[in-house]
Amino acid sequence: MDLFEASLSARLMATKEKGLYRRLRTAHENEEIQVFSSNNYLGLAQDERVKRAAIRAIEAYGTGSGGSRLTTGNLSLHERLESTIAAWKQKASAIVFSSGFLANLGTISTLMGPGDTIFSDALNHASIIDGCRMSKAQTIVYRHTDMRDLEEKLRSAPATGKKLIVTDGVFSMDGNIAPLPQIVELAETYGAWVMVDDAHAAGVLGKTGAGTAEYFGLSGRVHLAMGTLSKSIGAEGGYVAASEPVVEYLRNYARTFIFQTSLSPGVIGAALEAIEMIRTEPERRQRLLDNAAYMRAGLKEMGFTLVEGSTPILAVVIGAAERAVAFSRHLEERGVFAPAIRPPTVPEGSSRIRVTLTAVHTRTQIDRALAAFAAAGKELGVGALKF
Ligand SMILES: *Cc1c(COP(=O)(O)O)cnc(C)c1O
Repeated sequence: MDLFEASLSARLMATKEKGLYRRLRTAHENEEIQVFSSNNYLGLAQDERVKRAAIRAIEAYGTGSGGSRLTTGNLSLHERLESTIAAWKQKASAIVFSSGFLANLGTISTLMGPGDTIFSDALNHASIIDGCRMSKAQTIVYRHTDMRDLEEKLRSAPATGKKLIVTDGVFSMDGNIAPLPQIVELAETYGAWVMVDDAHAAGVLGKTGAGTAEYFGLSGRVHLAMGTLSKSIGAEGGYVAASEPVVEYLRNYARTFIFQTSLSPGVIGAALEAIEMIRTEPERRQRLLDNAAYMRAGLKEMGFTLVEGSTPILAVVIGAAERAVAFSRHLEERGVFAPAIRPPTVPEGSSRIRVTLTAVHTRTQIDRALAAFAAAGKELGVGALKF
C-alpha cells in the first residue's frame, strides 16, 4: 500500500472502530425478506401501468436523449413533463434536472450568491447543505423546526441582499412535517423567499399528492417547490416549480442543468404516468397513510420511542450506533429489512431504525414486522414490551 492508499485506509479504520462503516448491499430481490425501507411509497416503480408507459416512451424515442436540454437533448417529452409538474404544483413553470440532488445543488447555488443570506433548517438534506455551500451566500442554520430561532436569525440578518428560507417538507430521517404556515408568515414579515424540498412529501401529502404546500393550502406562498421523481413517483430525476422568470433564469445559469445530459425517455414516460395516477387515484395515498398509522400505533403500544409525525417515515429511536445496528440485524434475521441510521446522518446518540411504509404492504406483512420488532426489542432490552 502506498502513502495515498494508507491515508485513505486510516480514515476507513477509524470509521469502522466507531461502528459507522457503510457497506453496499444489494436489494432483496428474490429473498423471503420484507423491505420496510423503500422510498417507493406508492409502489409505482413496479406498477404495470407505469412500466408500460416507460416502455412505450422508449419505443417511441429510444433509451437515451443523447444531449443536454440546450443542445440536442430537448424532446417534447421533457416539455410535457415540465408543464405537468407546473400544473400539479400550481406554479407557472417548472424545470427538470437529472436528479433531486442536482436540482437542489443547481437551484440554490444559482439563485443565491455572495451578499445573499440563506436560512436552512438544521436537519435539511445533504443536497440542500451542499447547494448552500456552493452558492457562497451566507448560510445561517436554524434549530430544527424552531420558529423562534428562525425569527431571531431573520431579525439579526443583514438588511441587504436576497433572503431564502429553505426546508425539507417532510424530513427524511424523522418523518415530521415542516411548520410551513409559520415559515411562510416569517418569510413575508422579513422579506424572504421560501423553498420547500418535497422529496418525501410529493405523492404523500395534499389532496392531489402535490406535497407540503398543498397540504397546508400554501402553494401560492411557496416560491420554489422542489421535489424528486425518484421516490413516490417511482422514476428518476428532480424538479423545481416556480414562476416563469425564475425558471428562465435557471435554464440559463444553472450549471447542473446546462452541463448535464437530459433525462432519458423511459424515465419521463414513467414519471408522466405516475404523476397522473397520483393526481387521480387518492386511494393509493390513503392506503399508504393507513398502513403508516397502523404500524406507528403498534410500535408505540409496545413502548418504542418514535419521533412524532404522521407520515410514512417512522423513526424508532434506539440510541447508540452499535445498538441500532444490532437491532437492525435482529430484524433482518426475522425477515424484516429496516436499516439503522447513524451519525453523521443523524445526531450522535439518536441512532435509529428508520421504517418506511408503502401502499403495497399488506396487513399480514406489517403484523409480521411488528412481531419482529417485539422480539428484537426483548432481546436487546429496547421498548417496554407489552407483547
Ligand atoms: C432523496 C432526497 C433528495 C435527492 O433526490 P434524488 O432524486 O435521490 O437525487 C433531495 N432531498 C431530499 C429531502 C431527499 O430525501
